[in-house]
Amino acid sequence: MYNEKGLRIISLKRTAITITFRCTLKCKLCGVEIPFYNVPPHLSYNDFERIIDRYFQIVDYIDEFEISGGEALMHEDLSKIIEKSMQYKHKFNQLLIFTNGTIIPKTNVWDTLKKHRSKCHFFISDYGHISSKVEELAHLLAENGITYRVKKYYGSDLHCGGWVDFGNFSPTTYDYKKCYYLSSDYCIQIRSGEIHMCGRSYRAMEIGAIEKNKNEYIDLLNDTSNILDLKKKLISMINLKELSVCKLCNGLCKDSPRFTPAEQLE
Ligand code: SF4
Repeated sequence: MYNEKGLRIISLKRTAITITFRCTLKCKLCGVEIPFYNVPPHLSYNDFERIIDRYFQIVDYIDEFEISGGEALMHEDLSKIIEKSMQYKHKFNQLLIFTNGTIIPKTNVWDTLKKHRSKCHFFISDYGHISSKVEELAHLLAENGITYRVKKYYGSDLHCGGWVDFGNFSPTTYDYKKCYYLSSDYCIQIRSGEIHMCGRSYRAMEIGAIEKNKNEYIDLLNDTSNILDLKKKLISMINLKELSVCKLCNGLCKDSPRFTPAEQLE
């Protein structure tokens, strides 16, 4: 399928944009490795303006556009980032905002959420006593007509059976062909302005566990290639059957061992 400009249409299931690596928690098995940053990256609104514009030039449609962190509610310009995303509301079905249930959004965020309530939906991770604001947040969301879902990550009946441990970038024998992240466009990640097929790919390149492989990421802030070339590159990334980091990862699939979520580090 091609759009009116003759460019290949890219329609995706999900894309998650990490808007801050700051967080209120220090989870041992954090999938983004937040506790292991000395200085958690935190881009400005101006960067996100460029990132979001560029991404929606490349991508035509996403079922779920996800704003996450770290703790997404810690970004001081969350309201502006939501408003910017809404410029492209014709290009996504739902805007999902992920939070760990420890923070209540500021007044200006509520104003923006109410304005766009038909498109916005919250995913609240409830880790029990450490997610101390879950009830209050759920109540306020309901009161303001914003839909939400609470994912229970404590006690029995854990959401998805618990968390997985992706590992520490040592070689593994995991059969990565089973990994959800390699099933086409499971959930594309945008971190620090870079598009990766999987968050492990971003982190491995960041810490030098693997070399930066130009075929496996797109730098939305610095790559000046034209949109057609970036579309072609993203399509080839979506079709990858293996990432350079996969041999250093435990992956994510139905039979991955599950662990207690959100165990806190000192
Ligand atoms: S790096 Fe790990 S999580 Fe990412 S696609 Fe490969 S096996 Fe899956």
